[in-house]
Amino acid sequence: MAGCIFCRIVSGDVPARSLHEDEHAVAFLDAFPLAEGHILVVPRAHVGRLEELGDAQARAVFAAVHKLTGRVQKATGAPATTIAVNNGREAGQEVPHVHVHIVPRWPGDGAGPIHALGWSRPKLSAERMDQIAKSIRALP
Ligand code: AMP
Ligand code: ZN
Repeated sequence: MAGCIFCRIVSGDVPARSLHEDEHAVAFLDAFPLAEGHILVVPRAHVGRLEELGDAQARAVFAAVHKLTGRVQKATGAPATTIAVNNGREAGQEVPHVHVHIVPRWPGDGAGPIHALGWSRPKLSAERMDQIAKSIRALP
């Protein structure tokens, strides 16, 4: 899509430190890393949100995540990684082209788990939990 920074990286218009390319997925270093070795994995096509990916695109993106996670840990010496998608503007997605963040983590890096994002942890009744599970299962 014109004006999309990740489409411009995929097409080669904007340089990036490429790490992986296949028919459906591309990976490169984040230019403004949260930590050393921060990687972004994107679909080659401009798709805004995770749930809009086709099956082959989703498989390719997550296969690349799987491939690169161990490699970046080995290359940087990081003992762990946080893997995350900001899926939609309300979740903090700034670039509207799906991307999976792989962020290397170190002891004492201070970033905390995803659970530390500031959730309110709503008190949900068992009935509401059952209802949510039922409505998800009912969808095709
Ligand atoms: P998000 O906030 O989840 O949409 O993440 C967007 C990410 O894109 C941020 O981590 C940015 O650092 C990264 N980013 C923005 N521009 C570039 C670029 N030209 N090359 C690589 N990464 C970029
Ligand atoms: Zn795009």
